[in-house]
Amino acid sequence: MVVVVAAVLVGACSAEAVPVATPSTVTVAPVPSPKSAPPSPVAPTPTSTPTPTSAFVGTVAVLTPDLVERMAASWRPGCPVPLEDLRYVTVTHHGFEGQVVQGELVVHADVADGIVGVFRALFDAGYPIRSMRLVDDFGADDDASMAADNTSAFNCRAITGGTEWSEHAYGRAIDVNPVENPYVRGRHVAPPAGREFAERTARPGVILEGDAVVQAFAAAGWHWGGDWASPVDYQHFSVSGR
Ligand SMILES: [Zn+2]
Repeated sequence: MVVVVAAVLVGACSAEAVPVATPSTVTVAPVPSPKSAPPSPVAPTPTSTPTPTSAFVGTVAVLTPDLVERMAASWRPGCPVPLEDLRYVTVTHHGFEGQVVQGELVVHADVADGIVGVFRALFDAGYPIRSMRLVDDFGADDDASMAADNTSAFNCRAITGGTEWSEHAYGRAIDVNPVENPYVRGRHVAPPAGREFAERTARPGVILEGDAVVQAFAAAGWHWGGDWASPVDYQHFSVSGR
């Protein structure tokens, strides 16, 4: 239909104008035709099937054998929490381009229902999340997961720069949008792409003191690493506050 309109326009003026002068335009739309008839039948394209209102969906399940196999990098014997005490959680969330997608997390069984409630609140607030895949999709490499701006929870690993188990090893910590919410210790910023977010200003995905994200986690009893003195871990939420 657009092509037809364009052709007509070109035809109309090409009689005396130089045809090549018209660069191909993208915006051909509403050029009022001089004495045209009533609303042309081509005008309003009947709307395609209305987008169904995307509702929040959250699920909690025990780990299937397939999942256990998939988690070979993030869990091994000797980890502080047995696989039976972990849960596989899926939640729908907003992306940065307005899409609604499903994400996944592994958390401790005793926080699984609560975390679904948190992500329901984030969904309702329209908070965008870049990616939410198991760290195993990044070889359980925290740096790789952070670099991909991936939101994740369980990972049987030591604390950053230490030897004690991280709260992530218990499935009771979550890192949210690590690029927009980096880990900052002095001049060190992780992930590297988070450097431009070390100075905190309101931008999509950026978590700020008292905002909907902090409030949603707080309502479920989770604490924010953005409140720490040093390091400041803007992506980190945990039940213990560590
Ligand atoms: Zn963390």
